[in-house]
Amino acid sequence: MAKRVYIKTYGCQMNVYDSARMAELLAPLGFTVTQTAKDADLVILNTCHIRERAAEKVYSELGKIRRMKAAKAGRGGRMIVAVAGCVAQAEGTEMMRRAACVDLVFGPQSYHRLPKLIARALRADGDRVLDTSFPVEPKFDFLPETTGPRDVATFLTVQEGCDKFCSFCVVPYTRGAEYSRPVIQVVAEARRLVRGGAREITLLGQNVNSYHGEGPDGREWRLGELIRKLAELAGLDRIRYTTSHPRDVDDELIAAHRDVPQLMPFLHLPMQSGSDHILAAMNRRHTVADYRRIVERLRSARSDLALSTDLIVGHPGESDLDHRATLDLVDEVCFAQAFSFKYSPRPGTPAASAPCQIPDDVKTQRLGELQLLLANQRRNFNAACIGRTLPVLLEKPGRHEGQLIGRSPYLQSVHVTAAAERVGEIVPALITAASANSLSASLAEVVRA
Ligand code: SF4
Repeated sequence: MAKRVYIKTYGCQMNVYDSARMAELLAPLGFTVTQTAKDADLVILNTCHIRERAAEKVYSELGKIRRMKAAKAGRGGRMIVAVAGCVAQAEGTEMMRRAACVDLVFGPQSYHRLPKLIARALRADGDRVLDTSFPVEPKFDFLPETTGPRDVATFLTVQEGCDKFCSFCVVPYTRGAEYSRPVIQVVAEARRLVRGGAREITLLGQNVNSYHGEGPDGREWRLGELIRKLAELAGLDRIRYTTSHPRDVDDELIAAHRDVPQLMPFLHLPMQSGSDHILAAMNRRHTVADYRRIVERLRSARSDLALSTDLIVGHPGESDLDHRATLDLVDEVCFAQAFSFKYSPRPGTPAASAPCQIPDDVKTQRLGELQLLLANQRRNFNAACIGRTLPVLLEKPGRHEGQLIGRSPYLQSVHVTAAAERVGEIVPALITAASANSLSASLAEVVRA
């Protein structure tokens, strides 16, 4: 009998990718994806631990799910509730204790076992299942092949986990040690994605440019080499990757930015702080001078490269001078986009127990200053596109009748008026207006007519 699964995805693109793979794992068991939790037979919350109060948000959602589960039981039905992802990994045992409605908790490295875990949870004795192990077998070897239609712009995980242990970050604890998928496996999946209709693929990894997968020649291949290989795939017009670490930007990757036209001129390169003292406290393993040098080299390789970044204000020990240094470096580098946050402690990470925590009002004031500067840079970057004709990949219908939304090479959202059947085309678009968050454009061929 057909069963329905509702998957709520929190956080990053890697979770989006994982949720899609979970749906594929469940399809042979008769599960189809539904957009509402109320009548679902299986609810999966695929959680993220990066944002502040992540666990509380999950518990709050579980409160709603508990009522839906009880209502369904009242109608004679059954709902299995599962929590996956990084909060599950970090809080598994506690979650089982606090949330009685949860039947199944599993971490990001064990979701390939989902069919078996579901079977256990479905048994009549109501066995509750916790699997937050880091299996020795790479989960990618056990996932079904991606098939069927794909979004025109889609994701492909090539690397997972992290060995960097930045002071503020839970990823090494929740996703485990770095693992890179073999080149042959990545290329095969990319080929299937392109066959399914993808024209753009974003290669994903927590620390994607530390990629060191086994190549067909038995050597370890780095990300630049993988990108060159993927660029040989007919029909794959755009390649991106995220999230990168400055320390792992190597010559091969910089050369790929110079030589591979499919590699889009946009790079998310987290800076976190503009102060050497704070970068050291964060265990970022690079200096301000290193960051500056990498940006210069990347921009020499690809002069129109636009940069995006992550920044944290108020890391323990951050002085006014450190904060000033961050503002200065942001001013100098100039970003097209940025994600900036107040530091907030993650249990179990070194910075959480570090002395010299910064008061919240100071963090708020510093974040305000930083975001003002970043918003100006973003607005200026978008405004500078007015009058240019950019190739835009049309991805999906917009909110208004006859409108499509696409992406420029610089990852800007672009609104154009075009027929729905043009989704999937890369069109020349004349940029006519810009706001902080998006561009408006006319199809250039229409303008010429
Ligand atoms: S490199 Fe990125 S994923 Fe790894 S610990 Fe640092 S912030 Fe977290």
